[in-house]
Amino acid sequence: MKPERFHAEVRKLRELTDSYDDLSPAHPVSVRLEKEHSRFGDDTYATTRFDGDQYVIQVWEGYLHHGIAHVKEMLVHEWAHCLAWDHEATSSDDEHHSDSWGTAYAKLYRAFIER
Ligand SMILES: [Zn+2]
Repeated sequence: MKPERFHAEVRKLRELTDSYDDLSPAHPVSVRLEKEHSRFGDDTYATTRFDGDQYVIQVWEGYLHHGIAHVKEMLVHEWAHCLAWDHEATSSDDEHHSDSWGTAYAKLYRAFIER
């Protein structure tokens, strides 16, 4: 998948989540492609962090070759972190895949992948 297609999927996800209060994070979400895998952990291809006034999702560009289905699930996974942190007011690793992350993931999955 080319970066253009990736950014088109991000736009679709934004449009979708903008229309549902419970899928819109409380802060803006910036989604960036990173060329260098060295910015990530060994088995990690995407990360999300809270950066003062916005959420920042970084995706390794090399992951795009896995294709649209995997990339959409990755976006939903990371977007769910933003929603979960809205409620937990923290981005600490202890609560990485918390119950509220799981609930957000399920809602996003139904809306963005199963629709
Ligand atoms: Zn995660």
